[in-house]
Amino acid sequence: MEAYEKIHQLHHLIETGTAADLPGPYKVGVDLGTADVVLVVTDSQGNPVAGSLCWASVVKDGLVVDFRGATTIVEQLKAEVEKIMGITLEKGATAIPPGTVGRNAQACGHIIAGAGIEPICQVDEPVAAAKALNINHGIVVDIGGGTTGIAVLKNGDLVFTADEATGGTHISLVLSGAYKITYEEAEVLKKDVSQHRRIMPVVLPVIEKMAMIVENMLAGYDEYQDYPVYVVGGTAYLTGFGEEFSKAFGRKVHVPPHPLLVTPLGIAIFG
Ligand code: ATP
Repeated sequence: MEAYEKIHQLHHLIETGTAADLPGPYKVGVDLGTADVVLVVTDSQGNPVAGSLCWASVVKDGLVVDFRGATTIVEQLKAEVEKIMGITLEKGATAIPPGTVGRNAQACGHIIAGAGIEPICQVDEPVAAAKALNINHGIVVDIGGGTTGIAVLKNGDLVFTADEATGGTHISLVLSGAYKITYEEAEVLKKDVSQHRRIMPVVLPVIEKMAMIVENMLAGYDEYQDYPVYVVGGTAYLTGFGEEFSKAFGRKVHVPPHPLLVTPLGIAIFG
């Protein structure tokens, strides 16, 4: 299966709450994000088998702020997927934003262990995204809820990563202020495709800031000028995001289908 086909398939499986009829052994990945927690199962070739997603606020700017809440959510997602597949999930991979260190870096592993999944590896989030997109040579920009992270891959090797606060949360905060609505209402407005044209001028400065962050991260690395750039993460769902980001960044970027699911799929492939 091609990378984009896998992402479409994973979206279909999550939306329908079904499992693909593929043989094991299976790999498991858990993405503990700022805005959501996603559990994905693939077969040994990285083809999606099942998945489940829960919107949650258990992580902020890459730091776990609600350990118990996160463990409970992973337990629930695990139980859901086990029911769909009719098997027990025993081990899996997690991921962290680049630059996360110390106890914060260990927290994700402890959470999935607490939920009954033995942690077998932990990868950088943009590296997981690159894996899902099957990129050997290129730049992955991961714009999630709280942070903008990048990973540069050269001949299959990770040669540079960076991560900085500013993500979809900041877009929602701007919408909340501009339209005098609560943060929760701003989240709903932001996810309503029919409103994307109307809100784009309001959120454009945040998108331009994200592009500036990436430009600054890559400043001085002229050798990466010709590398293809892929933008993943839920924020890239905004209609016109790719075009506006490309304009501000000064380079064309590619936005894969269902950008929120790219990193979770990649984490599972490492599982
Ligand atoms: P992080 O990587 O920063 O820890 P995360 O893994 O939770 O965060 P993602 O799941 O990639 O990040 O993306 C979540 C962000 O995407 C949230 O800010 C959410 O509001 C936004 N988002 C999700 N769906 C949509 C949509 N349809 N339109 C616009 N934004 C969306």
